[in-house]
Amino acid sequence: MILDVQEILKADGAKIPVKCEIEPSAELLKSDMTFSEVLFSGELENIGGVLELRGDVKGKFTVPCARCMKETEQSFEAEVFETLAKEDAEISDRDAIIPFAGTSVDLGEAVWPSIVLTLDSKYLCQPECKGLCIHCGADLNESPCDCKDDDIDPRLAGLADLLQ
Ligand SMILES: [Zn+2]
Ligand SMILES: [Zn+2]
Repeated sequence: MILDVQEILKADGAKIPVKCEIEPSAELLKSDMTFSEVLFSGELENIGGVLELRGDVKGKFTVPCARCMKETEQSFEAEVFETLAKEDAEISDRDAIIPFAGTSVDLGEAVWPSIVLTLDSKYLCQPECKGLCIHCGADLNESPCDCKDDDIDPRLAGLADLLQ
């Protein structure tokens, strides 16, 4: 969502409440996570010519379980605290700010980094997910399979063959 900040740019201390749905960033659209109902709620304030975005964002996503690949639904909540400044503003620490051009701020661009920080690298459908059998691919949460050598260390697998 693009926000017009022309009004608050005019006066130091001016602020606007912001409540809106955030569209997934292009980068995250390419991942195996599917986001929905991502809502940001907070405010944007002009503090000495830069804009501070404060608030929180929450939403849901589905992602394949890291062990059994079944789609699992997760939710997240993150605090957002970002400083936005005009592209041509004289700011010493440019890494700490999100630049914007003219008088429009892309809220998605400002909010997604906080979401990404709260995400884990792996999600499980349940803490005790048994995963898939590495031999036959059966979903071990549904039923045990007939493979018997699950516990054999792969380095000893050759030896097990010799003994058969
Ligand atoms: Zn699972
Ligand atoms: Zn198996």
